[in-house]
Amino acid sequence: MLIISDLHGVIIDTSSILELRSKLAKQLYGIQIAPKTFFRKEVLQNNLLTEGQYRQICGKVYGEWQYVQRMQEVKGISHATQKLSRRGGIEVIILTTVTGKMLDCAKKWLKEHQIDYKDIIGVGLDGDRQSLLESFKPDIYIDDKPETLISLEDKKIKLLLFDWWYNKGIDVPKVGRVSNWQDILKIAGV
Ligand SMILES: [Mg+2]
Repeated sequence: MLIISDLHGVIIDTSSILELRSKLAKQLYGIQIAPKTFFRKEVLQNNLLTEGQYRQICGKVYGEWQYVQRMQEVKGISHATQKLSRRGGIEVIILTTVTGKMLDCAKKWLKEHQIDYKDIIGVGLDGDRQSLLESFKPDIYIDDKPETLISLEDKKIKLLLFDWWYNKGIDVPKVGRVSNWQDILKIAGV
């Protein structure tokens, strides 16, 4: 069995990332933005930051170890991946948008948190996650972005949406919602 998982928002706790973005906006630009609302679309639409400022913040949050090391894990993730690996026959591959030194930081974070996985692939911001998933043909794919999952419907992949406040109101009829890794293990039959 192959499980493919997104990184940020499935393995790494989104709240801790948004906290870092908020702290950096204050530090670098003196702008106060509530962590819970610190999403690209929202901050740009509301003219709270320019695209360049947003990018600079993200460059630091994801690309400098002093910030990456402060990211928290989603509860139960290291235990869950270790259990999957002990069980045998189930591989976990991580897909993420980050590349280059951001990907190196992500790998270091995964190592420090003892997350057991087979491989991590940085697809890039404009990367074609869909084609990659089609070629891997995983049994299960988990993401926190409904749009990504909806685009994969009818691909014979069990799709799971990791439940957060920011994806609550979105209707995803063919996608299962999970709120922790215990649920994912159950679905994987572990
Ligand atoms: Mg994500």
